[in-house]
Amino acid sequence: MSLPTITLLSFGFPQQDFLDQIARAVQLEFGYAVNLREGRIDLGEYYDPARNQYNGNNLLNLVDSLHVTDSFKTLGIFNVDLFIPILTFIFGQAFLNGNSGIASFYRLNNERYGMPENDLLFIERAKKEVIHEIGHTFGLIHCQNPVCVMRSSTYLEDVDQKKLHLCHNCREKLVG
Ligand SMILES: [Zn+2]
Ligand SMILES: [Zn+2]
Repeated sequence: MSLPTITLLSFGFPQQDFLDQIARAVQLEFGYAVNLREGRIDLGEYYDPARNQYNGNNLLNLVDSLHVTDSFKTLGIFNVDLFIPILTFIFGQAFLNGNSGIASFYRLNNERYGMPENDLLFIERAKKEVIHEIGHTFGLIHCQNPVCVMRSSTYLEDVDQKKLHLCHNCREKLVG
């Protein structure tokens, strides 16, 4: 019997060293082994020409359908602009207390906002978003603690304001 793992499924995110760092951060935060895999799909099927974005609900369902039972949680990593019908964009989303979530790194780099490139900041944001969505799959809801990783993020500034970790309260819920 294999130990429960968290699977990070990358769909077209090119930088392997970034993914390795993110995997390590997830492992440290949740205490499970993390598996990195590459997903292969035709993203074109998820593209909405009217919005020039990709359908986050359909992609979440796709990742959920790819969840394998020997993995504890599966998180899909994308590098395209995601939306859901009620929002202009999303950084990610997940099934609360479910198997799966998705996160996109598309809006996490400085260059997107006309600021100088900063890889350290980018990786930090990516780690936070991935940990946040995995937190939802463990049943954690949004937290009011301004520095908790489970705080909701509407803008990049919100992501930068919070820390990489679950606050004490969230961690207790995770254990309990
Ligand atoms: Zn959230
Ligand atoms: Zn919290």
